[in-house]
Amino acid sequence: MLVPATEMLQKAVRGHYAVGQFNINNLEWTKAILLTAQENNSPVILGVSEGAGKYMAGYKTVVGMVNGMLEEQKITVPVALHLDHGSYEGAIKCVEAGFSSVMFDGSHYPIDENVAKTTELVKLCHEKGVSIEAEVGSIGGEEDGVVGAGEIADPNECKAIADLGVDFLAAGIGNIHGKYPENWKGLDFDALAKTKELIGDLPLVLHGGTGIPENMIKTAISLGVAKINVNTECQLSFQEATRKYIEEGKDRQGKGYDPRKLLAPGFEAIKATVKEKMELFGSVNKA
Ligand SMILES: [Zn+2]
Repeated sequence: MLVPATEMLQKAVRGHYAVGQFNINNLEWTKAILLTAQENNSPVILGVSEGAGKYMAGYKTVVGMVNGMLEEQKITVPVALHLDHGSYEGAIKCVEAGFSSVMFDGSHYPIDENVAKTTELVKLCHEKGVSIEAEVGSIGGEEDGVVGAGEIADPNECKAIADLGVDFLAAGIGNIHGKYPENWKGLDFDALAKTKELIGDLPLVLHGGTGIPENMIKTAISLGVAKINVNTECQLSFQEATRKYIEEGKDRQGKGYDPRKLLAPGFEAIKATVKEKMELFGSVNKA
């Protein structure tokens, strides 16, 4: 059964580790992540962007697939199904469809409007037992065609949004989505520490987990980051493994064209990446 992400993240804050949010794109992605979580006895958050939701034939389709898989594959670790970077309307749709968690990304609104919309959604989500993440200070890079430069969130704005009753908070600390550029300055731990001081035990979320050096990930976790979003890294490992299979001509040998064979190396590559991240984040055996 799907659960909201609140309790697993509060536990992570207390235990000084982080839970991975791994974004899904299809059945193979979902199965790879859920099986890896179960094998490693780790809590997990499945992220769905609005674009991926559309691609997977709508939010209700996603909910049906994930719920079916939890039951048929006997997944017993805590699993949250979470809308990633949702719009106001998207968040409402996902709550109605049966998601157990949503992120409302109001970071592109002026802070007053972000506050007003977040307030409404907190009320709606909590009435339905759904957890809610908000964002302050836009996180750079490109996600579903929205491009932004990495920002450092104002700790006081973080406090203002935290006080609205959100369950966990994404604050820009120089992190970006996708691959990091050569001249990236690194995470701003001073900003992170200041925010942490103001918001107390509220779990913090680090977006753009692909390509952040391991020591920075560990420092971020020690400063209160309890949820780390991983998306691009699984896409890259899937791509590499699939490319290798084709380049080696395996799709032309025997029944190598069978999609269950063609997609298998990519599936295994996602599993390996997810396991590696769970070990790095410290969530193994924390279910
Ligand atoms: Zn993000």
